[in-house]
Amino acid sequence: MTNEVNDNPYQMALKQLDETARILNLDKGIHKILAKPKRVLTVSLPVKMDDGSIEVFTGYRSQHNDARGPFKGGIRYHPQVTIEEVMALSMWMTWKCAIVGIPLGGGKGGIICDPKKMSITELERLTRRYAYSISDIIGPYTDVPAPDVYTGGQEMSWIMDTYSTLKGDHGQPGVITGKPIPIGGSLGRTEATGRGLSFTVREAAKKQNISMNTATVVVQGFGNAGQFAAQLVEEQGAKIIAVSDTQGAILNKNGFSVNDLIKFKKENKTIKNFPGSTEVSNDELLTTDCTILIPAALENQITKENASRISAEIVAEAANGPTTPEADQILYDNKILVIPDVLANSGGVTVSYFEWLQNLRREYWTEKEVNDRLDTIMTRAFEEVYQAHESYNTNMRTASIALAVNRVAEAIQLRGIWP
Ligand code: NAD
Repeated sequence: MTNEVNDNPYQMALKQLDETARILNLDKGIHKILAKPKRVLTVSLPVKMDDGSIEVFTGYRSQHNDARGPFKGGIRYHPQVTIEEVMALSMWMTWKCAIVGIPLGGGKGGIICDPKKMSITELERLTRRYAYSISDIIGPYTDVPAPDVYTGGQEMSWIMDTYSTLKGDHGQPGVITGKPIPIGGSLGRTEATGRGLSFTVREAAKKQNISMNTATVVVQGFGNAGQFAAQLVEEQGAKIIAVSDTQGAILNKNGFSVNDLIKFKKENKTIKNFPGSTEVSNDELLTTDCTILIPAALENQITKENASRISAEIVAEAANGPTTPEADQILYDNKILVIPDVLANSGGVTVSYFEWLQNLRREYWTEKEVNDRLDTIMTRAFEEVYQAHESYNTNMRTASIALAVNRVAEAIQLRGIWP
């Protein structure tokens, strides 16, 4: 199967935009603006390696659109980073922020490197050099990066420190999110994606007349997003009957205790061989009879080969791009309600927005305050996407992007083209 999303994500993003423009009858000029990032910066990053040699890495920062607010989006470290991927991801960030209605635009960054083969000191020098090289185009009111694949709190701390030092400030926590708590991170950030997803599942269940107390759930991928999503839908009364990780998939029709699974995974590095479980294949996992399926691992898992055998009534996409376009159509035809990635996993960027707000105001919110505000935003976003899906008579994915493009187009039109 050809994999357009991975082969050229930017062409995929453009195709999605074309389709949305057609549905919305979007102004041709606005369409042209949205088809290109406002700025893409490429930087060469010379780094002294531990053995004394010099390596030159390539990094990017793509700023897609800031009509609704400063650019926002993660920075990934990966050998396969490409300029097209970073550009596509920055466009998707514009849509994501617009869907949840937060006043931010879309950006994304990346460095072509293999962090698993680098020492911590090499990573620090690379990160600080990258922060220096993009320091003129980022800032608390211009572009606010965050973690992504293979970056986390430590990289964010170095970027915050480098930026603050360069600008002669004592601390500019608002330049970046995903920071550890002692330097301005937000409570609730770690659980945010899973928690946000659980709110959208709760709302979707209401639309499908499903009681969470009788719902059964299958989770593919048991990492950050999958574990918290499982834990929080279990709290709503649902029974988790199957989970998987890279080592394998397990099933227990009577339901697992998510806390026990998390504990087991911590001790054994996998959920495989969890007491009382039966081992199943990945295909069996995805097509297990259940009410809610949560893909929380990789892209392209629900395909035209397995989509017609999926029995879930709701598919909530924690992972980015788990469903291929052909599979999407099959699920829609089978009346399965898909909560698309851009909506389902946007709890992460929403709490990043809260972190930024706390930093700008020099405040710290309680975890309850963060979670309550997240609930309000996710519930509203779900309802708005659901309404758009009904009024445009299209699936939830197209409806989400249509809603987003409409919002960004409106902002561009109101601000006008200058000069
Ligand atoms: P993670 O690395 O913490 O977890 C990924 C999990 O998937 C691991 O348990 C891994 O064992 C499992 N996995 C990998 N390959 C698998 C396979 N072939 N079959 C079954 N399981 C497999 O990553 P994460 O942060 O939980 O991210 C998961 C997905 O969610 C990604 O697509 C990511 O882009 C998306 N996402 C995450 C966040 C977040 O805040 N964590 C936000 C938005 C989107």
